[in-house]
Amino acid sequence: MPRLIPEQGEVMEMLKRTGAFREGHFVYPSGQHTPHYFQMPLAFRYYDTARVLAVALSRKLRLVKEVSSALPKVSIISPSPGGIPVAFAVREALNAEQIYWAEREGGDRMFRQYVNAGEVHPCVIVDDISRTGTALQETVALVRQLGAQVIGCGVIVRFRGSPDHLEVAGSEEPIPVLSLVDFEAKWYDNGADCAECNQGASEEHVRF
Ligand SMILES: [Zn+2]
Repeated sequence: MPRLIPEQGEVMEMLKRTGAFREGHFVYPSGQHTPHYFQMPLAFRYYDTARVLAVALSRKLRLVKEVSSALPKVSIISPSPGGIPVAFAVREALNAEQIYWAEREGGDRMFRQYVNAGEVHPCVIVDDISRTGTALQETVALVRQLGAQVIGCGVIVRFRGSPDHLEVAGSEEPIPVLSLVDFEAKWYDNGADCAECNQGASEEHVRF
């Protein structure tokens, strides 16, 4: 019998098995080096894995009183198209009524035209990974601009350096960022300090 909410180690196993978590020697376009890389859509390409991860995250979200008491009149919000599979799978597990996703247009994060204030239910923001927290925080601002409420937030993987709470302007309580994995990311600003470079390991360049 699988556990209701899998342990962090089990989730990492799933991510490794599907290729979503990779170990090696990676160089970002920014020039930063790192010995690990997450490519989360590789986990979500398998329906069964996607479902296990989304059900686990939804169980954590259900424990948030504001979320469980608002269901099913809840909007699941993805900060970007990359989080859409997570949003649909979490919606299914929570039986929430709406899904929205933001996109970048000319550098600004925004919803599609004609998403109107008053139509959006209280919002749960979900994403596959939070590396810095910027996408989540920008999405909070977007939701607030529509006059909608943020009642919860959850990601599959959160880098420990990124915030575990989101500040909501004009609001009382910060929103906790729930996660299945809290990951201690290792970064080097350039090759000079990189342990893998110093061992002469060959580099893989990643797009983002
Ligand atoms: Zn390196």
